Amino acid sequence: MTTLQPTPHANAFPHPASYYVATARGLEPQPPLDGDARCDVCVIGAGYTGISTALHLAERGYKVVVLEAQRVGWGASGRNGGQLSGGQRIDPEAMAKIVGAERARQLWDLGEEAKNTVKQRIARHGIDCDLKPGIIHAGFKPQHGKEMQEHARYLRDDYGYAHIRPLSREELRAIVASDLYHGGAYDADAAHLHPLNYVLGLARAAREAGALIHEMTPAQQIVRRNGKPVVHTAQGDVTADFVVLACNGHLGGLEPRIASKIMPINNFIIATEPLGAERARALIANDAAVADSKYVIDYYRLSADGRMLFGGGESYSQNYPADIAGLVRKCMLRVFPQLADVKIDYAWGGKVAITLNRLPAFGRLDGDVYYAMGFSGQGVALTTLAGKAVAEAIAGQAERFDLLASIPIPRFPGGTLLRWPSLVAGMLYYSLLDRL
Ligand SMILES: Cc1cc2nc3c(=O)[nH]c(=O)nc-3n(C[C@H](O)[C@H](O)[C@H](O)COP(=O)(O)OP(=O)(O)OC[C@H]3O[C@@H](n4cnc5c(N)ncnc54)[C@H](O)[C@@H]3O)c2cc1C
Repeated sequence: MTTLQPTPHANAFPHPASYYVATARGLEPQPPLDGDARCDVCVIGAGYTGISTALHLAERGYKVVVLEAQRVGWGASGRNGGQLSGGQRIDPEAMAKIVGAERARQLWDLGEEAKNTVKQRIARHGIDCDLKPGIIHAGFKPQHGKEMQEHARYLRDDYGYAHIRPLSREELRAIVASDLYHGGAYDADAAHLHPLNYVLGLARAAREAGALIHEMTPAQQIVRRNGKPVVHTAQGDVTADFVVLACNGHLGGLEPRIASKIMPINNFIIATEPLGAERARALIANDAAVADSKYVIDYYRLSADGRMLFGGGESYSQNYPADIAGLVRKCMLRVFPQLADVKIDYAWGGKVAITLNRLPAFGRLDGDVYYAMGFSGQGVALTTLAGKAVAEAIAGQAERFDLLASIPIPRFPGGTLLRWPSLVAGMLYYSLLDRL
């Protein structure tokens, strides 16, 4: 069993151990920056957002340099639950209350485009990342099950989204071998994938399109020289016409003007030993991914080699708990008590960057510094689209970027200093509701 802690920058191969790292394809190190460089666009961060931005820009002929403090996919992009959802993180009904019905519809369409862009990129670049169809939304309380069924009908009938269908308690029980749920919905066009292999494949495509990726090169500061943004690193300075901040939950103090819009919180995943095809399929008969309706959500799916990959657990400390496996195993056994005899092979954590209203934060600073972050636990698809939208905006077509940037993102009360205690209080309150 391997328990992970965040690894220090100095380590030459700092990807923390996980099921994903153990089954990674294309982890070859990329050289750190070596001396000063000049480019059209300097992207900071090599997760989905940064790599997708680099790929879309390089395909348009831009000279792109990507700086990554650690390794490609080292952040949330290489550690997540792999659920590929369309739409947005909040329902269209709730979205309409924030941005109005018309923009809510446009944002839903963008979310659908995001999901399709991921599938197209996987097909176009031959990315071997275990893509499989389907996500089940499972109601943890009777009221949640009812709301999920109603929401599925709303999407189908009012939004014309034909891929989703309500599931009664019995229908859900026939697919997922757990007595916990009260019905829900099945989205056949959503999917799940190996998240690290997806970003590694995207990075290969970006390099082939001409982008330069420098790992082990933390951006320390952005300054301005002769009117241009200059990204300072210990290995050299990168002068660019544009800078893209794609640091998400790892932004730290690099750009204080936006730091208080996001809050990094830790979330955890375990991988069991391989269960054998028959036992695995007995747990999730259609091999879809599952996400429940709790505030501190349980999400899980089967890996290509028949392990249960189970995400959940809560930790309100800024550090990882000592026993991640024990924490998440408890959540797994509440859903599947029949897995009590199963060994946990891997346990790891990652930083989910949340915003106050759970919508992503897009914007521009000083006219030439773009940012996209705070995907709030639903970023596999939207980050890929974020890269496309940032690339379009840099190329002078900003309609989609501006639509995304028009979503109002409140700052956390207390800014970067006091946001943590107020969030912890809020999270504890809502996680209590899960238990009632
Ligand atoms: C445990 C977990 C489960 C999740 N499950 C799902 C899921 O099932 N479905 C879903 O849609 N989303 C999920 N998410 C969210 C999703 O993973 C993220 O929204 C997405 O990966 C964000 O991508 P990103 O590129 O913006 O950020 P990241 O992948 O976090 O990448 C940011 C990168 O920036 C680098 N960086 C930061 N600062 C600097 C600097 N100063 N210099 C250079 N580099 C820097 C970091 O090293 C990092 O590699 C999950 C997240 C976690 C943590």
